Amino acid sequence: MGMELGKYKTCVSARSTDKEILKKAQDGGIVTSLFVYALENGIIDGAIVSGQGDRPWKARPYIATTKEELLAARGTKYNISPQISWLKEATRSYGFDKLGIVGVCCQMQALRKAQLYPVGMRDVPDKVALAIGIFCMENFPYKSIQQLVEDHAGQKMQAVKKMEIGKGKFWVTTERGNTIALPLKITHKYEQPGCHVCLDYVSNLGDISTGSVGSPDGWSTVFVRTKKGEETWNKAVGAGLFETKPIEQVKPGLELVTKLANEKITKNKKHIEERATFGVNKGLRNPYI
Ligand code: FAD
Ligand code: SF4
Repeated sequence: MGMELGKYKTCVSARSTDKEILKKAQDGGIVTSLFVYALENGIIDGAIVSGQGDRPWKARPYIATTKEELLAARGTKYNISPQISWLKEATRSYGFDKLGIVGVCCQMQALRKAQLYPVGMRDVPDKVALAIGIFCMENFPYKSIQQLVEDHAGQKMQAVKKMEIGKGKFWVTTERGNTIALPLKITHKYEQPGCHVCLDYVSNLGDISTGSVGSPDGWSTVFVRTKKGEETWNKAVGAGLFETKPIEQVKPGLELVTKLANEKITKNKKHIEERATFGVNKGLRNPYI
């Protein structure tokens, strides 16, 4: 096992057995089903999720304390959602002892940093009961996603039913059933610049991490990484929440996940070196070496 997939105990392909959740889930409904299970079984008091903000498809982090609020966050919003901004609030104002949180790889890193060095985060370290990391190749500012949908795909934001990156394209599907596929060559220019120095693809620091890559359409690839993650995952599978298949038995499987992780790491390492050459981002080098 190389380091590009992080440490994990098990990896499977899975899909929720809850038809209602699947209706609007991005992939196999792993995130929402796990949080609903965790909430209903006292594993978490609530979870920091990302729902819709004040504009169509604008990501907005909030604390969900009911099944309805968890379901309202289904689906991927391809723009920055400041999940960590609620971390302190969740333990203080909400008084949660058992917090759930979902976020992309860099947010899992920020979460673990807050737990390890809790400067200004005194109440946080031991209160995170379930951190679900999602795979992430890149993210976009809201304005970029608006330009991609409106200018390049020619659709109104409020008419969009789903956005998806997969099979080398950025897919926009409308409520009326139109599908527009933009080549990633177009989307690259719009990416958040910070993503070009990011070296994690599969949320190495989640208790559980999940994404679509590696599994068939409608299914998810799931890495169970920590003891906490394993306990919750095993209970949820035991309770019939997920159909699972060994990852070795699905196509394209871990080979593709590994390939994409390596591509991201190689490409972004090059960016880091380039930036260092130009004297920007010196902070990314360890000053103690
Ligand atoms: P659902 O049950 O549909 O729940 C989705 C959860 O994601 C919700 O709880 C919601 O709170 C959360 N969420 C939605 N938008 C955001 C956001 N912007 N930031 C933080 N949390 C959010 N998967 C891949 O396989 N390859 C990729 O390259 C890849 N890139 C991604 C890039 C971004 C910016 C994001 C947000 C996701 C990416 N994913 C990628 C993950 C994938 O799109 C799904 O989010 C993941 O498979 C979970 O699907 P699900 O059906 O289990 O989740
Ligand atoms: Fe964060 Fe990395 Fe995804 Fe950018 S590519 S949003 S830095 S995890």
